[in-house]
Amino acid sequence: TTYLDTQNQRESNARSYPRRIPIAIDKAEGIYVTDVEGNTYYDCLAGAGTLALGHNHPVVIEAIEEIVHNKRPLHTLDITTPMKEEFVSEIFDSLPEEFAKRAKIQFCGPTGSDAIEAALKLVKTATGRGGMLSFQGGYHGMTNGALSMMGNIGPKQQVPNLMPDVQFMPYPYSYRCPFGLGGDLGSKVSSTYIERAITNPEGGIVKPAGMVMEMVQGEGGAVPAPIEWVQEMRRITKEQDIPLILDEVQTGIGRTGKMFAFEHAGITPDVLVLSKAIGGTLPLSVVIHDEKLDKWGPGAHSGTFRGNQMAIAAGTATIRYVKENNLEEHAENMGAQLMNRLKQTQAETSSIGDVRGRGLMIGVEVVNMQQEADTLGSYPEHPDLAKQIQKECFNRGLILELGGRFGSVIRFLPPLIITEEQVNEISNIFHEAVR
Ligand code: PMP
Repeated sequence: TTYLDTQNQRESNARSYPRRIPIAIDKAEGIYVTDVEGNTYYDCLAGAGTLALGHNHPVVIEAIEEIVHNKRPLHTLDITTPMKEEFVSEIFDSLPEEFAKRAKIQFCGPTGSDAIEAALKLVKTATGRGGMLSFQGGYHGMTNGALSMMGNIGPKQQVPNLMPDVQFMPYPYSYRCPFGLGGDLGSKVSSTYIERAITNPEGGIVKPAGMVMEMVQGEGGAVPAPIEWVQEMRRITKEQDIPLILDEVQTGIGRTGKMFAFEHAGITPDVLVLSKAIGGTLPLSVVIHDEKLDKWGPGAHSGTFRGNQMAIAAGTATIRYVKENNLEEHAENMGAQLMNRLKQTQAETSSIGDVRGRGLMIGVEVVNMQQEADTLGSYPEHPDLAKQIQKECFNRGLILELGGRFGSVIRFLPPLIITEEQVNEISNIFHEAVR
């Protein structure tokens, strides 16, 4: 326990994951991590969606070893390399053609937050407008601009002077629809509300520089936006000439059953923000945007650690592997199987209000059924019970993380390479833990 003692004594009070996952990880392979005492766990947090191929996948290791053994550059300050060219081709070949042919790519700092900052700056520069539209329950990172876009007030309220001009729109969260209307009707009311808020002169909203949204809210509790609603957001932003920024930091690279989650809706964004899985385990982020927005001048968005070469090589290997092995479809199948099993647990116990998600991005909302349901039939959130279930899972060798507006959603984000057998084992552990 010396590792954990050091952590408690020396690390900042802001640390988060280590508080609820009190182990020191020594080894990792595939979906498993092993701690210093030799205990092995299923890792269904998987770098919060970063580990598309799991830990230490051979193709990722091979890509990294190739660099080291052949003395290829580890750092070039964004000056191009054959590795970077390959990566850009791989990404552009993965995009829908109509987007790829009008798209430009900008390498950003290593994190998702860096790319969100870049996207905000890009649309502000291009439109000359200052405000933004974001969504209730949305999560885009912890830096100043990204935090300003956060729909969850918790981490924001201690920080003065965030971007003032951000309007939060209702996200179509059918289990807790802000309009008290679930399903298609709730989603329709939400899109109508948003259209009127933006277009009606009495809506009070000055035309924003952009709208930033997730296709499936991740940290917000694995809430998938209905496809028709997404199509409506695309129509409205197009008609109003408001750039649509899709934050696919968590949903990108096969996680939801398509390479990019926007493909489910047959739309394309004006700006696509990617990080996590595109670096094949290593830190990397990019913004891919319509060339029409390319109005910032040379040097307008420089930075030392853009486009890390090792992450680029690991990312290329990962994207290739996902495509060659059709892991998008695999994620969809494994996701469906996991969701079925979780729904069984929901039916056989009395603490789960909702099981939802898309592909291998699944949320289980823990509720208090001892209290009364609201008009939609949804019970109050139960974060304490969610924590307890998380702990019971952990004690049985399954690492899961919580999310959602109240921390009452248990999130499943396993690597895309998860097998049918592993889905079964995880489902069994979860069932036992809930019971
Ligand atoms: N956007 C989304 C949708 C995310 O899920 C996250 C991270 N969970 C971020 C942005 C921020 O990325 P990072 O933590 O790398 O800054």
